[in-house]
Amino acid sequence: MQPTAFETMWQRMERTAEALRRNNMEATCVKSTADVVPVVESLLHEGDVVSNGGSMSLVETGVMDHLRSGRYQFLDREGVTGDELGKLYRDAFSADAYLASANAVTDAGEIFNVDGNANRVAAIAFGPKRVILVVGCNKLVADLREAETRLETMAAPANTKRLGCATPCRETGVCAHCQSPARICCTYTVQRFQRQKGRIHVILVAEPLGF
Ligand code: SF4
Repeated sequence: MQPTAFETMWQRMERTAEALRRNNMEATCVKSTADVVPVVESLLHEGDVVSNGGSMSLVETGVMDHLRSGRYQFLDREGVTGDELGKLYRDAFSADAYLASANAVTDAGEIFNVDGNANRVAAIAFGPKRVILVVGCNKLVADLREAETRLETMAAPANTKRLGCATPCRETGVCAHCQSPARICCTYTVQRFQRQKGRIHVILVAEPLGF
């Protein structure tokens, strides 16, 4: 990124981090993807039970590999299906830490997410003792209206392409407010002021990550 553009992005990230802190969440700004795993490691303890929501940001930053390092009791969903998968989704609620990304974070320090199954948004909202969200600078938005636009023109269509969902947006790249059985936009959540101070920790990364 061009230096003055980087400086401007960094200033926005710091403003967003302050807004998250005002909402009783923790926030750390880092300059590159390589800085993410050390921060995650500092927030976890060896032997912690950890779980995660599906996230390309966790893959791109190396966090998924870190969770599989053997340092933690990782509730790994890779290749798991059926009843066993359902059990892992429920076990996540009693994890020590839950890792995921967000679909968008607003200038006011609001975290916006949309799920198909709702396992991810449910665990972010309640259950795990700590929640760690890794968020690229491409997901910073002015407000919830822009968050929804971002979802409908980028995050959801890109995810339906990745997952091979039979939805209109997979073909057109834009939301058609479908009623498809494969719809991935079913449960919408916003985290604003949190009663449990510091339960949610957002790592803001000055690089684009995920969709
Ligand atoms: S509501 Fe349907 S068409 Fe719209 S983004 Fe979600 S899955 Fe795609």
